[in-house]
Amino acid sequence: HVKRGHGYAVPAVEGLDGMSVAKEMIGAALQKRVRAVNTDTCEAGEEDAFFVADMGEVYRQHMRWKKHLGRITPHYAVKCNPDPVIIKLLAALGSGFDCASKTEIEQVLQAGVEPSRIIYAQPCKTKSYLRYTAQQGVKQMTFDNTDELYKIKAICPQAELYLRILTDDSASLCRLSQKFGASMDTAPELLALARELDLDIAGVAFHVGSGASDPTAFHKAVLDARNVFDQALALGFTPHTLDVGGGFISETFDEMAAALSQALDQHFSPSVRIIAEPGRYYTSAAFTLACNVIARRTVQDPITGLHSYMLYLNDGVYGNFSSIIFDHQHPVPQVLSCARRITGLHCSSSLSLADSGYSSSDDETSAVRSAQQKSVEYSIWGPTCDGIDCIAESWTSPQLVDVGDWLYFEDMGAYTKCSATRFNGFTDKHETVYVCSEAGASALLGF
Ligand code: PLP
Repeated sequence: HVKRGHGYAVPAVEGLDGMSVAKEMIGAALQKRVRAVNTDTCEAGEEDAFFVADMGEVYRQHMRWKKHLGRITPHYAVKCNPDPVIIKLLAALGSGFDCASKTEIEQVLQAGVEPSRIIYAQPCKTKSYLRYTAQQGVKQMTFDNTDELYKIKAICPQAELYLRILTDDSASLCRLSQKFGASMDTAPELLALARELDLDIAGVAFHVGSGASDPTAFHKAVLDARNVFDQALALGFTPHTLDVGGGFISETFDEMAAALSQALDQHFSPSVRIIAEPGRYYTSAAFTLACNVIARRTVQDPITGLHSYMLYLNDGVYGNFSSIIFDHQHPVPQVLSCARRITGLHCSSSLSLADSGYSSSDDETSAVRSAQQKSVEYSIWGPTCDGIDCIAESWTSPQLVDVGDWLYFEDMGAYTKCSATRFNGFTDKHETVYVCSEAGASALLGF
């Protein structure tokens, strides 16, 4: 089993054996890339942070989905990580796609996906994007207000509409219901207006919040969706699809899937098609990020006299660590290479300073001495000039980390690079090295 940064191991999926090799493959790819860079002589930016992405992990998550939620066709939420190789793999595996903008729709269509496999799952759409959507033949879309219905009638009257309803998302990581979703009180008037405008209600959609953790939220949402289905049927519509949204996380997936399946079996006959919009479930653990230590500052506690360090990395919250701000994440640093020696993926066996080949400069001798006695304490910062750019306020390591060393962070595949900026002129385009720990995925990708 592949241990994650938070100590969680994804359960094995029957018939798949790649998990045992995944860690080795990712480690080898990280080391190869790091060894290729000499920070003393390289060109500007050659030591930029980079990802190693294991497409085998995405494949395993898909197989796990099919095992636990075989009734539901996933529509991958592109916003989570619009990586082209993920889209290629999931398209080959038969997934649909949840897109939220013209660019996402364009990217998925360019990957050869038919328009009927796309849902424009943004209840408040830009008019010009809606015109593009109509031209491209993408018909499935969500709405949750009357103004949107008038807009759709004018631009895209042939749309297949999903009424997005409000859910209780109080137990989720990123709440969405404060912004989207029609209340059960307003659903009847929205359906009545759709009838008046002669629009097509294809079904109901909900989202229990990104990173949901309360299985009862699914029970309530499915029951509400059933009520709205019945209201639509009573008005003469023929709704045929329920969209249960995203929110799934690897750690609680089996439990949430069981709760959802039970609710669906109870309230929706097998003739109703069920789709979902999972994002982070597929990609979170698939991406590992490696960052270079570009600077270090020694800090002495005025009272105890003990030393700690501030480490400055070449990626931060304005870059791939945007997940700290936008997605409430706490990425866990681990040492990849120390004092120009590759330490391997797991640094649990502490490398002594003598072994590490580390040689201290005069002004740091006492810090090194104190480091020899116990773990070293660090705070970790990004490269920009902003004080908010902090990756970890406190991190201890058995190793002394120096300028030029590399750290890596697991579970960096969701809501990271998609929201990176170019603030201070740092790049928002970081290289991705792809590996594939599952033969089935390699065959589909031609790896
Ligand atoms: N669908 C919609 C409409 C969303 O807004 C989101 C995330 O914000 C998702 C799907 C994906 O959610 P998650 O990554 O938690 O599965």
